[in-house]
Formats: sequence, C-alpha cells, structure tokens
Amino acid sequence: MDYLYRMNESQGELAGHRAGFVSILGRPNVGKSTLMNRLVGEKLSIITPKAQTTRHRILGILNGSDFQIVYSDTPGILRPEYALHKSMMGSVRLSLEDADLLLFVADPFERYGDEDIIAQIAQSEVPKILVLNKIDLCDAEKADSAIDYWSNIIKPARQLGISALDGTGLDTLISMVLEYMPEHPPFYPKDALTDRPERFFASEILREKIFGLYKKEIPYSCEVEVIEFSESEDIIRIRTIIYVERSSQRAILLGHKGERIKRTGIEARADMEAFFGKKVFLEQHIKVMPNWRRDARRLRQFGYN
Ligand code: GDP
Ligand code: MG
Repeated sequence: MDYLYRMNESQGELAGHRAGFVSILGRPNVGKSTLMNRLVGEKLSIITPKAQTTRHRILGILNGSDFQIVYSDTPGILRPEYALHKSMMGSVRLSLEDADLLLFVADPFERYGDEDIIAQIAQSEVPKILVLNKIDLCDAEKADSAIDYWSNIIKPARQLGISALDGTGLDTLISMVLEYMPEHPPFYPKDALTDRPERFFASEILREKIFGLYKKEIPYSCEVEVIEFSESEDIIRIRTIIYVERSSQRAILLGHKGERIKRTGIEARADMEAFFGKKVFLEQHIKVMPNWRRDARRLRQFGYN
C-alpha cells in the first residue's frame, strides 16, 4: 500500500483540497475506457472495437493543484455466463458502493436490455451524471432523445452529451465532476497516475494487440501473465505467458511458421516502448490451460477477485 497517502503529514497545507472517487459505468463499447483515458490524459485502459476488453477495474487519477479525482473504469455491464463474467460484475457492484459519484455512460444507439445491474445503478444512493458519449456520430435531435431516454431510467442529478473521441464537452464534464468531490486531502501521491503496477500495463498492452489482431473467440480465450518485468538503465525485459484454452487456439495464435504471434509481439513492443519511455525486450510463450475462464483458482492467479 505504498500509494496510500499518509494524511497527518500534510493536512495543514491541504485546506480546501477536494478529492474523491468516480466510477465510470455503462454497457460494453459505449466508450468508458476512451473517456477515462481522455480525462486522465494517458492511455491507461485498453480500447478496442470489441466488447469486453476491460476485464479489471482500473484506476486513473487526475491531479490538479487543489483537487484529485480518482476515476475507475469498470468492465462493461453484461449478464454473467462465465466465472470470469461474475468477477467482472462484482467489480461493477463494488464501484456502486464506494464511489462519491457515478458517471453512467451511454451512446446514442444502445437501448436498455434486461440487465438487473442497470436497475441497481438507478437505485444507488450515489449521485449520478448521465454522460451521452459519441455525439459526434449523430445529430442534436437524436442526442436529446437518447439523453431523455436514459435519464428516465437512471434518474441522474445532471446530464450532458460529449464526444470522448474529439473532446467535445469534456471541460464541462470535469467541472461538473468537481462539484461532487468532497473536501478531502489527496488519497494518492499527487504525481500518481494510477494505482496499478507497471507490469499490469505490459499485460494489458499485449492483450490489446491480441484483441486487435485475432478474430472470433481467440481474444476472449486468452489471458496474459507477465512472469518477468525487470528494468535496467536502458532496457526493460518483459517475459509473458499467453494462456489459451485449447491447443487448436495455440496453433491459431502462432500462425503459419509463427508469423502471426511475431507480428503481435512487434506491435505490442512498440506500444510498450512508447508507454514506458524505454527500449523493451519482449518474450512471449504460449501455454494451454483448459477452461481457465471457469476456474476460480486460475482467475485469482490472474488477479480477478
Ligand atoms: P468501453 O467498452 O465502454 O470501454 O468502450 P471503449 O472505450 O473501448 O470504446 C469502444 C469503441 O468506441 C472504440 O472503437 C472507440 O474508439 C469508440 N469510441 C469511444 N468514444 C467515442 C466517441 O466519442 N465517438 C466515436 N465516434 N467513437 C468513440
Ligand atoms: Mg472498456
């Protein structure tokens, strides 16, 4: 817990400081991760056009001289089919309880399913802002009707339309969010961006490339484990294991003469070098682990609760 701020040390200087927790919720693919990255100004959360890319809760921290907003990006809301999904929804529920503010993100096209978690969000005592994202993709009339539609379901304290992609409405959103932040000293050091260790981002970057470069069930069957992350002065050495559920998936991942996995590694390494600001040596091993998505013990090993 090195990140936890020791309050008594500097309480005096921090009068008037605001700090709080904001959970970003909504159905898959509405742009939650894009929004958090945009708010924090860093690419912390992986983004792909496929649903269910965000499996873990990821904190992103926005620091100002007199405020600290701790955002958490959550996995999209869905009906649990696997043990993996149950763990993902558990982290959504948790964020309903311990946040100062909820941002419920919707897009102009999605409509209500029968997910009971949406009802739970509506009933939550935590104040809510309805954020209609992707307004760059529709006209004002469509945006207004979608805002009306979701307001009736979620009953938010405030509502607005934004585009996380081109930045429309983000300044307004940030000032709205600040109104709901209680007076409190910072929870994390003021230069912290996230509570996640660096090796977590290495595995997320590799996972993002797998999502981008393989089709159908392959990305959903893969989990990445970083078994070594050792940093020296001019290079970071990262060794990973990619787990798949069946040997046929291993063959697909490798591709003809290992060409596909090689390309995946080249792209992941380039992104890791940009993210860490250092040269990266990346190694990937592939292992078959039948049914890891249904296995509670394995899920714990990968960091799901
Ligand atoms: P999440 O599943 O809710 O976290 O959604 P992501 O952030 O991963 O985004 C899903 C897809 O929507 C990606 O292809 C994004 O580039 C795209 N997207 C996100 N925000 C916007 C936006 O404001 N406008 C448009 N046009 N696309 C967006
Ligand atoms: Mg996401």
